[in-house]
Amino acid sequence: MTIRIAIVGLGKIARDQHLPAIEKDARFELAAVASRSAGVDGVPHFTDLAELLASDVQFDAVALCTPPQVRHTIARQAIDAGKHVMLEKPPGATLSEVEDLKAAAAAKGVTLQTTWHSRYATAVAPAQTWLSGKTIKSVQINWKEDVRVWHPGQTWIWQAGGLGVFDPGINALSIATVVLPAFFLEKATLHVPENCQSPVEAQLTFRTVTGAPVKADFDFLQTGEQSWDIIIDTDGGELKLSHGGSRLWVDGVLAHEGPDEEYPGLYDAFARLIAAGGSDVDVSPLRHVADAFLLGERVTAPAFVE
Ligand code: NAP
Repeated sequence: MTIRIAIVGLGKIARDQHLPAIEKDARFELAAVASRSAGVDGVPHFTDLAELLASDVQFDAVALCTPPQVRHTIARQAIDAGKHVMLEKPPGATLSEVEDLKAAAAAKGVTLQTTWHSRYATAVAPAQTWLSGKTIKSVQINWKEDVRVWHPGQTWIWQAGGLGVFDPGINALSIATVVLPAFFLEKATLHVPENCQSPVEAQLTFRTVTGAPVKADFDFLQTGEQSWDIIIDTDGGELKLSHGGSRLWVDGVLAHEGPDEEYPGLYDAFARLIAAGGSDVDVSPLRHVADAFLLGERVTAPAFVE
């Protein structure tokens, strides 16, 4: 069965990853685009989802690629219209919104998928296998990138609900929540530019249920070499996931390197969920971010000027 899918919010991630993944996967067909300022040649184009739903274009599913602040309203429209919904990360601006979507999708009998693309990085599954049966002693997460390079012009990121440096940092947490035992926040420092609502830098200290410290250093102003690394010290040696989870190192030796591809796996999972009539709703990475906003100390940082 072909899944006719519409993209809502044709921005950077929709163009860079969703369009190529849909193009590559024979189970999907791009049925429409709903975006205020852009479309795709040869594909029906609408300003927003409401306009698409009012048209005669037939479709089965939507991929919501807008900023998180507007995600719930659009997702609810789609679910109420009986469409399967793929939510870009983070799945909502609040945890309660996602709970509402989960209940609404179950009641309507449609698939809801919270996507955590970094979990599909090629070295994450091998890391899970390697860690199995080992005792974790400590974890260091370094997620440092240059916002001016990776998020040019994305003003929503600095507004309330935009998450600031947690927009990339939540990707690290999405990996940590599948490779580590449960962990909880003990302390956080959030550096918020004086002209923004969201942090540009954050230091977090968690502890696993087994007592191991988990430190995370998120920085949005990293110039030069970028780092998306998770280093896990265990009783059986040191594991390092680098390049966002596409390379795995054991005791300093490269043990696994795969293509830097995450979205084909994510679309494969979406197609399988739809075929099975299931949903996959996991808010654990977003819950850790919410905890940081609840518990974290605020420090005022210099104004951010793009
Ligand atoms: P983006 O480039 O700003 O694109 C978002 C698109 O959503 C915009 O182009 C805009 O298209 C539409 N939109 C609808 N309502 C909007 C509003 N109120 N404010 C701004 N735009 C609105 O952002 P993005 O990088 O694609 O990120 C979108 C989502 O994907 C975020 O949740 C992000 O965390 C996630 N994501 C991004 C990346 C990445 O590397 N960039 C990677 C993975 C996931 P119109 O103006 O045409 O309506």
